[in-house]
Amino acid sequence: MELSVRDILAKKRDGSELSCEEIETLIAGYCKGSVPDYQMAAFLMAVTLRGMTVRETRCLTTAMLSSGRRADFSALGRPCVDKHSTGGVGDKVSLILAPLVAACGATVPMISGRSLEHTGGTLDKLASIPGFRTDLRFAEFVRQVERIGVAIAGQTEEMVPADRKIYALRDATATVASVPLAVASILSKKLAEGAQHLVLDVKVGSGAFFRTQEEARTLAHLAVSVGCELGLPVRALLTDMDQPLGRAAGNWVEVREAAETLRGHGPEDLVEIVLALGREMLEMSGVCEGEEAERRLRRNLEDGTAWRKFLALVEAQGGDVSVVENPDRHRVPRHTRTVSCPAAGFVTRVDAYWIGRAAAWLGAGRTRPEEETDPQAGVLLLKVAGDKVEAGEPVAVLTTDSHPERLEMAAELVRRAFVTGEEPLPRRGMVLERIL
Ligand code: URA
Repeated sequence: MELSVRDILAKKRDGSELSCEEIETLIAGYCKGSVPDYQMAAFLMAVTLRGMTVRETRCLTTAMLSSGRRADFSALGRPCVDKHSTGGVGDKVSLILAPLVAACGATVPMISGRSLEHTGGTLDKLASIPGFRTDLRFAEFVRQVERIGVAIAGQTEEMVPADRKIYALRDATATVASVPLAVASILSKKLAEGAQHLVLDVKVGSGAFFRTQEEARTLAHLAVSVGCELGLPVRALLTDMDQPLGRAAGNWVEVREAAETLRGHGPEDLVEIVLALGREMLEMSGVCEGEEAERRLRRNLEDGTAWRKFLALVEAQGGDVSVVENPDRHRVPRHTRTVSCPAAGFVTRVDAYWIGRAAAWLGAGRTRPEEETDPQAGVLLLKVAGDKVEAGEPVAVLTTDSHPERLEMAAELVRRAFVTGEEPLPRRGMVLERIL
């Protein structure tokens, strides 16, 4: 007997396993408009609370993938590889890694996402470059990948429209931190874009959705299993997201830091993650192995090849290259505020969660799906873990165009993030675990 949408929701609410047909009914109905937001929101919450089996997650991924078109770059004769992060604070890795790996000889067709809760979104960061388009049509996306080897774009009506709608709804319904929903969201995008290999950056810590290594490991294993069943080999690195990556969290501030990194002046933690993920991507896709992979990544980062590839990407997607080349030409933020540290000592921790909340609150994130983000919203850290700080010394600068009335509250959140002690703590390596 065919179940009604309400019956399907009740079945999931009560913890039973759904069939592929039932999952397909929900997803196809949601895309057509016959399943309204309130029923999809109930489904997402039921999955968040009850979980999904591997089979259900595979069916959800396939249903989301089938909602749109699928690119195929197998005829290009170059390995096609991508990486995806589960979301973090200051995580501008995609902006650096996509052009870098393309410069090393692979094809990188990247379908990415907007900001979610306190974490930043690659698309919102790129959209802070004047003119930059993330809403490429399917044919434009394919042409660009064929021509320059790299594109970074969002889900559209043509590509994974199911993820486009569900992703925004999850942000508004506190259902982002669900392992099966995250896996289906990520894999449906990667299968649709035509990736043949995927490296997953599973963030762990206060700034991530998965706070413990155990949860992150569960996600990684599920992604590896479902990816494998659907013909997409997946490797995962669990990486530290207890403190923001680099010194910038927000939109334009992060593009600026990514540009500095592509010009060979990146912060140590960010460069370490870029190289670790890049090495996995090059090895996995067979471009080159081990030491040679690391050498090639470093060379392309240091000699300007990756930077030129990034500029080609910006130009191809309509962005103003002159602003990226001369960041001081970008309009200055309308409102800024400096945050000072009350206590002297060494910074032992900058809690990523509070920095992410502050950046989102200033306009880098959304409280409603239809909201625009603010290109100038962000937090620039003047001090990070290991730095010495005097009482009253500035530790961060807040910027916003849209929400000056929120600067006070954001300053309070940033103060909450800073922990000081008498001695600096040794720096932890960024890669916590590797899952093949
Ligand atoms: N990135 C995605 O694309 N989806 C998620 O659910 C989380 C991170």
